[in-house]
Amino acid sequence: MVSRVIPVEPFDLVIFGGTGDLARRKILPALFRRFCAGQMPEEARIIGAARSEHDTDEYKAMVRDAIVEFVGEDDAQADALAAFVDRTDYVTIDARGTDGWVELAGKMREGCVRAFYFSVAPALFGDLAERIHVNGMATDQSRIVVEKPFGHDLATARALNDTLAQHFDEGQIYRIDHYLGKETVQNLMAIRFGNMLFEPLWNSQYVDHIQITVAETVGVGGRGEYYDKAGAMRDMVQNHLMQLLCLIAMEPPAKFDPDAVRDEKLKVIRALDEVEPHHIVRGQYEALDGEHPGYREAAGDPRSSTESYIALKTHISNWRWAGTPFYLRTGKRLVARSSVISVVFKDAPHSIFGPEAGRHANVLSIRLQPNEGITLQVTIKEPGPGGMRLVDVPLDMTFAEALGPESDDPPDAYERLIMDVIRGNQTLFMRGDEVEAAWAWADPMIAGWKARGEVPKPYESGSVGPDQADQLLRRDGRVWRGIKP
Ligand code: NAD
Repeated sequence: MVSRVIPVEPFDLVIFGGTGDLARRKILPALFRRFCAGQMPEEARIIGAARSEHDTDEYKAMVRDAIVEFVGEDDAQADALAAFVDRTDYVTIDARGTDGWVELAGKMREGCVRAFYFSVAPALFGDLAERIHVNGMATDQSRIVVEKPFGHDLATARALNDTLAQHFDEGQIYRIDHYLGKETVQNLMAIRFGNMLFEPLWNSQYVDHIQITVAETVGVGGRGEYYDKAGAMRDMVQNHLMQLLCLIAMEPPAKFDPDAVRDEKLKVIRALDEVEPHHIVRGQYEALDGEHPGYREAAGDPRSSTESYIALKTHISNWRWAGTPFYLRTGKRLVARSSVISVVFKDAPHSIFGPEAGRHANVLSIRLQPNEGITLQVTIKEPGPGGMRLVDVPLDMTFAEALGPESDDPPDAYERLIMDVIRGNQTLFMRGDEVEAAWAWADPMIAGWKARGEVPKPYESGSVGPDQADQLLRRDGRVWRGIKP
């Protein structure tokens, strides 16, 4: 496979929160990898801006350490690392005060793309937008990048959209959902809209149901306190699983352009039915043999009623999908790390092989991680004598095997997304109305279980989640697909 790298225009990228965890672990390593790939032009500059007092040399040392820690130390890249670090600069700044702003404005160059990455607590987003504006740094070439979480509910998301809109046009606001930057998530669109094979079957006439699973083996770790205020619904379903649902269910956009794609996604979200309380299962993981703490201990609240697992059934009320349920589930400390979308087709309408042949359905599974690829389960005759016995076998394509070693190490989501910001391409970013519509769908569920005082069901660490989630499907005569590494 030949990779094509198209260099982007010269840019000034300011990372507010440039000393924080996300900057060190994701943003700076992503920029370094793009630099090594030859995508960053000579004139590109990265300016860290954060509250901590550092001079530029100290910041450069911090950037170097972050790259060595999160990309690895490679002798072959020593020169590249030195050249990359050379492009970085630092300003001590207070998002809520006046310190540093004049200095930062003085560093901005005229006539090139300016990207301001808000890698700070969401409470500071409004302050940053305002100060960029007041200090004369907002030009037509400027854009802001906003990290998750985008709001805590519809009211806060709307307030945040309104605040940002006072200073920037929607076309300048890049709301990151890093799931959309994953190579395999983009592949969902290629699989659906690049192949004639699937489209005629892609509707409720042929699809029995769809399952979307995002399973993690990690617990909440050091993020317990933050996570406890969010839970799986806010942290995963309202954003990441919702985006997957949109890509799998949306109508073909007329073209692959930001608004055409986002218009179609928005229609899906707006067509989602309200989820019935008995179609939601929430869980909390228990401690594992004294090895790992249980959720409540990790969250620091022995009475926490926040969910670390959620499974739900929803419907999309439109012509294509009426009658086809979508089952979503995500959780922490599950048996394996696995993100898979399974499109389960209906049984053949009549079996010419008689009842003893059993029931067989085709399943198209799209594995997002790990082992990105697709599997199509087809029914064949079991080899050998003994009559017509049917068996399901997988037609399996692992992208790394089919496309060569380069696809085994796809670019990190942040690499793709940051370069899209510089290019001015918003296709893989969430629009304000999309985010609000997703909250409008999620809020009543959260309000409902709070009002009913529901407590999440405990589940064993290393399991597939609470038993009640199995019942959710069993009641409908269906079963979850296994969660496999
Ligand atoms: P962090 O606490 O590690 O870093 C925060 C940064 O903000 C630091 O550089 C700090 O100096 C700076 N800062 C704090 N107050 C400031 C102020 N008043 N003025 C200027 N700078 C200030 O946080 P993080 O983990 O890097 O997360 C940053 C943002 O990204 C948060 O919104 C978080 O929700 C989001 N996010 C983080 C991750 C992750 O993996 N860390 C993943 C997704 C989203």
